[in-house]
This record gives sequence, C-alpha cells and structure tokens, in this order.
Amino acid sequence: MADCIFCKIANKEIPSAAVYEDDMVLAFKDLEPQAPVHVLVIPKKHVESIKELDDSHKDVMGHIFCKVLPRVAKEQGIDEKGFRVVANTGDEGGQTVKHLHIHLLGGRSMQWPPG
Ligand code: AMP
Ligand code: ZN
Repeated sequence: MADCIFCKIANKEIPSAAVYEDDMVLAFKDLEPQAPVHVLVIPKKHVESIKELDDSHKDVMGHIFCKVLPRVAKEQGIDEKGFRVVANTGDEGGQTVKHLHIHLLGGRSMQWPPG
C-alpha cells in the first residue's frame, strides 16, 4: 500500500534490521526499543489492524503465532524467562503505524497493567 512505512520495509524500499523473513512474514528490530529485545512481526501483505482480519488471513496469522513468534523468541534468547506479545489496535489501543504488527518484547520483567 502506497505511503505505508511497513509495506516499504517489507518491500525493502526502507531498510530494517531483519531477524526473520519468509514469503509471508518479516520480523525486524523496533527502531525505538522498549525492552532489551523488541521485535516487530508483520504480514508482508498490507492489512491495517486486527479489526480488518478475515478468513483470508488465517494462514498468515496462524503462521505468525505458531511458528514465527516462538522461533524468534527462542533465537533472541527470551523464550525460557518469558516475553510479551502485543498488538496495539486503533487509536485508543496506541497504534501509530497502520499496518498490523505484533510487538515481541523481552529481556526484562514486564509490568501490569501496561500504560
Ligand atoms: P505502534 O505504536 O504499536 O503502532 O508501534 C509502531 C512501532 O513501530 C513503534 O514501536 C516504532 O518505534 C516502530 N517503528 C516505526 N518506524 C520504524 C522503522 N522504520 N523501523 C523499525 N521500527 C519502526
Ligand atoms: Zn502496509
């Protein structure tokens, strides 16, 4: 999608520090990390948020949760102690980039409730 920064990252028009990639998904380091490990996992095909998901997204979202997140967590060394997975959705959810992304955060103790 034109003017979407994460589409541009997925298309390599903007560089990123990728930690995992396949035909459906890219995972890359967040530019402003909020924890020692802070990775964003995106479907390469544009979808704005969880609100827009439908049956056509089952494969990619299942892939993200069943394969990519556990794999990246393990590779980043945060799987044993634990980690947090967040999908900010919409304005009150704190979503600033309107291309669905899953935050993977770890390497420190997390607080609850989040701000
Ligand atoms: P959210 O506020 O949930 O929409 O998260 C957007 C995230 O994208 C923030 O944590 C930003 O730091 C991150 N971000 C924005 N631009 C880039 C970029 N070019 N490369 C990596 N992370 C980015
Ligand atoms: Zn996009």
